[in-house]
Amino acid sequence: MANLNIDSKQERTYDAIVIGSGMSGGWAAKELTEKGLKTLVLERGRDVKHMEDYPTTNMMPWEFKHRGEIPRDIAEENPVVSRCYAFKEDAKHFFVLDTEHPYVQQEPFDWIRGYQVGGKSLLWARQTQRWSPYDFEGPARDGFAVEWPISYEDIAPWYSHVEKFVGISGNKDGIPQLPDGEFLPPMDLTCVESYFKEQMSEHYPERPVIIGRCAHLTEPQPIHLEQGRGQCMYRNICQRGCPYGAYFSSNSSTIPWAAKTGNMTLRPHSVVDSIIYDEQQERAVGVRVVDANTKETVEYYADIIFLNASALNSNMILMNSTSDRFLDGLGNDSGLLGKYVAFHNYRGTISAEYEGFMDRTTSGRRPNGGYIPRFRNVFSQETDFLRGYAAGLSAHRSQVRDTSGAGQILKENLLNPSPGPWRVGSHMMGETIPKESNYVALDPEKRDEWGMPLLNVSVEYDDNDEKMLEDFFEQMSEMYDKAGFTNIRTRDSEQAPGLDIHEMGGVRMGKDPETSLLNRWNQLHACKNVFVTDGACMTSTGTQNPSLTYMALTARSANYAVEELNKGNL
Ligand SMILES: Cc1cc2nc3c(=O)[nH]c(=O)nc-3n(C[C@H](O)[C@H](O)[C@H](O)COP(=O)(O)OP(=O)(O)OC[C@H]3O[C@@H](n4cnc5c(N)ncnc54)[C@H](O)[C@@H]3O)c2cc1C
Ligand code: SF4
Repeated sequence: MANLNIDSKQERTYDAIVIGSGMSGGWAAKELTEKGLKTLVLERGRDVKHMEDYPTTNMMPWEFKHRGEIPRDIAEENPVVSRCYAFKEDAKHFFVLDTEHPYVQQEPFDWIRGYQVGGKSLLWARQTQRWSPYDFEGPARDGFAVEWPISYEDIAPWYSHVEKFVGISGNKDGIPQLPDGEFLPPMDLTCVESYFKEQMSEHYPERPVIIGRCAHLTEPQPIHLEQGRGQCMYRNICQRGCPYGAYFSSNSSTIPWAAKTGNMTLRPHSVVDSIIYDEQQERAVGVRVVDANTKETVEYYADIIFLNASALNSNMILMNSTSDRFLDGLGNDSGLLGKYVAFHNYRGTISAEYEGFMDRTTSGRRPNGGYIPRFRNVFSQETDFLRGYAAGLSAHRSQVRDTSGAGQILKENLLNPSPGPWRVGSHMMGETIPKESNYVALDPEKRDEWGMPLLNVSVEYDDNDEKMLEDFFEQMSEMYDKAGFTNIRTRDSEQAPGLDIHEMGGVRMGKDPETSLLNRWNQLHACKNVFVTDGACMTSTGTQNPSLTYMALTARSANYAVEELNKGNL
């Protein structure tokens, strides 16, 4: 039966459409609605309302049926998502199961997804660092991919714009390769992390160690209180959704903010199949949506379209948007759509012990860690591999549990562990080089239950990644050794690309339409009223956690889109 609510074309026409309500889509919605545009936000997953829909947020450990773990049958049926460290009983409902949304791995690729209002912004580890000029200049300086069409100066004001609204805790460290931002008070390093920082400044003055910069309200400002968000209580169970809104998510921040303008229509359960291109008007006019539940197809129309479905999904939607003008996907005149996909190399970890500070311990639950910005090949090329890696750092006091005895004695022993040595650990966050041979494509035969072709992923590590991994082991071992850490152990997790959850590219930005898809404003060169501002747009990957850059690019691009629309250029 026809749905009377959607029968009229006029009722299905908006000023703007945003595809995806996650980290970047939330920002598009906020900026566009604030500027007065009637905006339709299309989200394939269910609605997740801030606070109301965080079912585990106040649960005690003993209230979980499986004591926080994933039952073995679910883990076996869903090997990909089960490899994600945060896929546990308390946050399982925010992850996509492999069985629900299959894809084709031509090469092993762990695609971690969150299909709901808020996307993966509910699940992220909230680490936020700006890119520096050295990151934007990377491809041109080192001769890979294509030159970025923007510089650090272009995006710096937008980093500030986003940081003030999101609330980023951090320290002004004055590091050229990691520019300072608009910070709330920083969290603290533990005593061993501070000791390591001092040791590094003595032995390696060019290798700073800092407290992580993270999206937590350590001291909420009026703009955060206006969003209904409050002070971080240091519970460190953020992946369940935070009832205080103390960490940034689309659900606690941008989506309700956009709703408050009265200009947003949020439509969950709306799987965007493709963007509709009008040959006469030479522009996109709307989107085709399949209702996730009824499978009914509906079209919506708008002057501008923001594609924020997450990097690989945005690639898919463009590839599925074919027309006589664009036989191989919308905007794909260069033939490069889906190519130059890159990610972060997270394979290396290192652990050690430290025997000092035996009279000190840690208290509380800091939802953050230490950070070592990239120090390799920053100012000049020093090694036989390109680019470099950042590293996380954490040091905490271990606990030794005496398991001897029986009955009451055993119980007492287990309940009263004694402090053991300090344990130190770091993980590598390496830049990978985008290559044409690392690509995604639509499967020619297989389709999902909503009629979309499955995604085919063919992405691999290369020699540069292997050399970088070896260097991480060598350099970090040396640094740990210099600090007097003992029992140093390195480990290659051998994890597949994708588990870093920082997949990027496929719709890269660039100056030349022959070698890129998007211009300096994230507009498709060949279809100017379509903007792609999630990870798909990334020309290279940097070493930083990427979401802050996606949000800043989105805000910048949305403001430009509104200006152009008002001038009649779109
Ligand atoms: C455990 C974990 C830890 C992380 N830690 C960090 C971190 O510390 N720092 C950091 O910067 N990043 C981190 N990330 C990555 C971060 O979450 C992503 O970079 C970010 O969410 C990407 O934003 P996005 O808008 O591109 O995609 P998402 O947030 O995934 O949102 C995309 C939305 O689009 C919807 N969608 C997809 N396809 C369609 C369609 N066809 N039609 C309609 N809607 C669609 C999805 O359902 C989803 O809601 C982490 C991720 C995870 C899972
Ligand atoms: S640590 Fe802070 S942000 Fe995380 S759940 Fe607790 S209060 Fe919320």
